Amino acid sequence: MVSPDSASFWDDKYLNNQAGWDMRTTTPVFEDLLHEQRFLKPGRILITGCGKGYDAILAAKMGYDVYAVDFSVEAIKFAKGLADKENVRVNFIQEDIFKLDLIYKDYFDYVYDYVTYCAVLPERRKEFVEITAGFLKPGGILIALLFPVEERKGGPPYAVDVNEFYELISPHLELKFSSRRIKSIKPRMGREVLQIYLKKETGKINADKS
Ligand code: SAH
Repeated sequence: MVSPDSASFWDDKYLNNQAGWDMRTTTPVFEDLLHEQRFLKPGRILITGCGKGYDAILAAKMGYDVYAVDFSVEAIKFAKGLADKENVRVNFIQEDIFKLDLIYKDYFDYVYDYVTYCAVLPERRKEFVEITAGFLKPGGILIALLFPVEERKGGPPYAVDVNEFYELISPHLELKFSSRRIKSIKPRMGREVLQIYLKKETGKINADKS
């Protein structure tokens, strides 16, 4: 079987209408966050595993400088088409997130992840989290919408343990907000948690300890 670690696994799902995660529209809680611009004033944002690009396009419409990465050719093709149709500029990057760490180190004001952490093989989570934190500038903010926060066998999506995520990311970022009482689509109610983390000004990854 093709591994979820490869783009072709996801391309097949998109091509065969098996993209059960695809809401075909923007994410309610992300919309709210963007509207609250006192908190997230427009800046450069990376959307990890952007899928068909609805959230990326929304952020671009609201004045953010948007980079959106997904290694699926099909997802990016769709997303680019949608952005063109809506006459919106987004930097869509068709690439493996694990290969972007050096190019975009300390580059973003914001990183937003929804349904991608749970798509990554559990044994690569530590690496994924480190890379994600590394994308942020000091002072940058991670918006992690964690789903599905429940026990389940297999995946993707692989079950997300909020405490495990916290343990993995807290050496790099500081937790500022966490809530399960958020605006979710009905089938995901109570099954997702919004967490917001800040990259400390001195919180450089692999910082020299001497
Ligand atoms: N965030 C989107 C898509 C979620 S599905 C949404 O909510 O609709 C997970 C997405 O992550 C898929 O589009 C898949 O192609 C992408 N993905 C998984 N692993 C990836 C990796 N290593 N690099 C880039 N994209 C990846």
